[in-house]
Amino acid sequence: MKPFTYVRATSVAEASRMVVAGSAPLAGGTDLLGLMKGGIASPARLVDLGGIDGLNGWSRERGAGLRIGALTPLVDLETSDQLARHLPIVREALRDTATLQLRNAGTVGGNLLQRNRCWYFRDAAIQCWLKGGTQCFAKEGENEHHAIIGTARGCNRVAPSDLAPALIAHDARVTLTSTRGTRSVLLADLFTDPALHSREEHTLRRGEILTEVQVPESGLQRRGTYLKAMERKTWSFALVSVAVAARIRGGKLRDPRIVLGGVAPVPWRVEAAEAEIDGHPFSDDLARRAADLLLADAAPLAKNGYKVPLAKELVRRALARIAAA
Ligand SMILES: Cc1cc2nc3c(=O)[nH]c(=O)nc-3n(C[C@H](O)[C@H](O)[C@H](O)COP(=O)(O)OP(=O)(O)OC[C@H]3O[C@@H](n4cnc5c(N)ncnc54)[C@H](O)[C@@H]3O)c2cc1C
Repeated sequence: MKPFTYVRATSVAEASRMVVAGSAPLAGGTDLLGLMKGGIASPARLVDLGGIDGLNGWSRERGAGLRIGALTPLVDLETSDQLARHLPIVREALRDTATLQLRNAGTVGGNLLQRNRCWYFRDAAIQCWLKGGTQCFAKEGENEHHAIIGTARGCNRVAPSDLAPALIAHDARVTLTSTRGTRSVLLADLFTDPALHSREEHTLRRGEILTEVQVPESGLQRRGTYLKAMERKTWSFALVSVAVAARIRGGKLRDPRIVLGGVAPVPWRVEAAEAEIDGHPFSDDLARRAADLLLADAAPLAKNGYKVPLAKELVRRALARIAAA
């Protein structure tokens, strides 16, 4: 590991001032420290956010939605019965996230901003496209865990966070603060559009600190669920996951969201798929039509074609579950 210095910020403003080029914010460290040990990240300075008040915990204000502080440990959300009453999808998504130890240390902001798990990216000896090289080695290599859609050219990584699709299905936004001010963006827009061929995974600007996640009142009115297919039953990233959410009125799905994880460089949504089911009662056929639209542009690599039927079946099951609840 390259030598680095460590500072502890006591306010968001101070943290933002400290996160200059060559520095990185540190939350639970469960991803960042691994990247540093592996030689993939080498910040000269770590800016620990753990000493900042007010970024830990969640609150619900009637009419104003739900707010979750970025430094909240994942386990606190997973184990809160009260939160599960407002937004049950969060518990469902976190139950199979990593391990209990990692959920104790890992935070909401860190989970959303973690780097991808592509084994070529995580190998310091390999200069893949995302690290400034000229090619994606997954394209012709070991690609069973890689993207099947939305890759354009460039990178075949998949967005790894379980929390992201779940929160996007409820229209979550994130607040980003720096010395230049504060902005609120849709959580979906925190992930760099693959069509831009950017070598950044997130749209966070230098010095910005993710301070909180907000779920609007309208998002809380949707019934949601999260399903995750894994290679083994625990401690495993999603091969494919799906978050669905909709208001159910008179047995019909209204204003639905379908978000896939594990299939694309970003949490994957296709509005036409959601429009297909909007206003209709659930049926297997309806779900199949939506799933077909969602994956219409899928172009699997040699070893990950299994993700297409897997994703379609998860979409069907998830929609059936919210319709029946
Ligand atoms: C073995 C293993 C299995 C895992 N399995 C899963 C899984 O199944 N599903 C899943 O979703 N995740 C999984 N993870 C990832 C894990 O959830 C993340 O490592 C964790 O959530 C990151 O949170 P953290 O607080 O430790 O982030 P850190 O490691 O501290 O930070 C991660 C990144 O975010 C930046 N950052 C953190 N907080 C902020 C902030 N508030 N503002 C600006 N930048 C910030 C850091 O600079 C860094 O770049 C796994 C990890 C491991 C090691």
